[in-house]
Order: sequence, then C-alpha cells, then structure tokens
Amino acid sequence: MQRKKVEVYFYKCPNCGIERTSWFLEEDGKTGKSLAICFNCDARFELNDAKWYTKTVNAYSCPKCGEFVEAIEENYSFYGLFCPNCDSLVRYSRRNIHPNKLLRATKNQLKRTIELVNELRLLKAENWRDFASLAILLLDAKKEERGFRMSPYFHRQDFTNYLLIKGDEFIGYVSWNLLKGTPTLRQIYIVERERRKGYGSILLRESFKLFAGSEVEFIVESPNEKTLAMLLKLGYVEKDEDGYRGVKVRFIYCG
Ligand SMILES: [Zn+2]
Ligand SMILES: [Zn+2]
Repeated sequence: MQRKKVEVYFYKCPNCGIERTSWFLEEDGKTGKSLAICFNCDARFELNDAKWYTKTVNAYSCPKCGEFVEAIEENYSFYGLFCPNCDSLVRYSRRNIHPNKLLRATKNQLKRTIELVNELRLLKAENWRDFASLAILLLDAKKEERGFRMSPYFHRQDFTNYLLIKGDEFIGYVSWNLLKGTPTLRQIYIVERERRKGYGSILLRESFKLFAGSEVEFIVESPNEKTLAMLLKLGYVEKDEDGYRGVKVRFIYCG
C-alpha cells in the first residue's frame, strides 16, 4: 500500500465546530440559496468561500482500483477506510493491521467463545475487532454473492452476528435479526476451503439456539442455492418438483 500526503479543503460547522470536506445541501425556500446542513448538530448555514481552509492529510492507495483515498471522516466506516471509487476496504480501522491477522482469533476473543463440536467455536460479534474480522469475511462473501450488503449493515444494533471459529481461525459468520418479532436469517457464509463438512449447518443450528432460545420458526431472507441445500439437510425445508418449500421457515425476498 502506498501512502502520500494530500491537501484537502475543510469547512468547520459554525455551530458545533465539526470539520467536514462535504456537506448535505438544502435549498432555502425563501431565498433560493443553498444551505449546508450539519450532519452532527443539524444546524443550517451558508457555505461561505472565506471559511474553507486546507489541511494536509494522509491518502492511501486503493488495493483494487489504485486511486488514492484520503483519510478523512467521510471515507471511514465502522471497519476502516473505504475507497469511494470502488467500495474496497483500503485500510482496516485507523491502525494498520494486516487482514490475515484479523482472520485469527485473539486470546480475548477465544475467551468469549462458546465451544461447539470438534474444534469449532462460536463468537458473538461485539467489539471493533470482532466486526473487523467479520468485515474481512464479508468481503469474501460479497465476491460470490453480490446481493450481500456492506456497511453499515453489520453494526446496526438490530443485527446479531456470530462468527464461526475453527481452532483459532475465523471461517464463517451468520447474521440474524427480528422481523416483526420473528427470528430472521439474513446471511450465512463459510469460507470455500471449509465447505462440505457440515459446518454451515452447525453454525445455523447453534446460532439459532443462542439467538432465538426456544423459538422453532424463522424467516430466511433471499436464500441462495447453498443456503437452501443446508436448510433441506436440517429439515427446515422440503423439496419437490415445484422447488423448495419451507417447513419450519418462511422466505422473504428483498430487492
Ligand atoms: Zn454542527
Ligand atoms: Zn478503489
């Protein structure tokens, strides 16, 4: 990854003092002038040329498209610095941690896991480090399943995410939430080299128990073939000449 210094124009919110390089704009109905809206304090004010000033910030080259991405607030999400040009993760968090390192569980993470069968463990994503590991897996998942959505999806509070660990390696995840009170399976993913070993089924079954307790029914959002095959094996769906039919699950599809 290359780094360079670049000059960026900033403007300070006259009300709360937050610095931004871009603002939401709104037209003033009376005067027709453009007003900036502070995303932080909701203040409305005119963007006056005189108040812009420059600052030198770091910019990092995007591993995918090669563009330099400025390390400014607007380009950060929960996990790190994102390329506004191609959506790739450029830098993990504000620290430099190699992505491969994030795929190994730390001692602290292992301490918070629940032991399953064999060498498998389940970790509920709670802190920055957990979500960063999740983000790396999600980037992989997105390569196969373009419908998988990215940030800020995962740290929204109504989603509960579990990571699957084998030994000390993160090998998959599952996302649950409640839809009108019914547990809903949002995404499930196992890294390619660990498939066809029944791990997906274990992840689904064990996380559902933790998430939903004694509930027996759940909803599945836009299941793909792999998920359907897994649900079939677990007895949640049946298959006949018309295709798959839910037994203990219902399907919903989001565009
Ligand atoms: Zn403000
Ligand atoms: Zn890029």
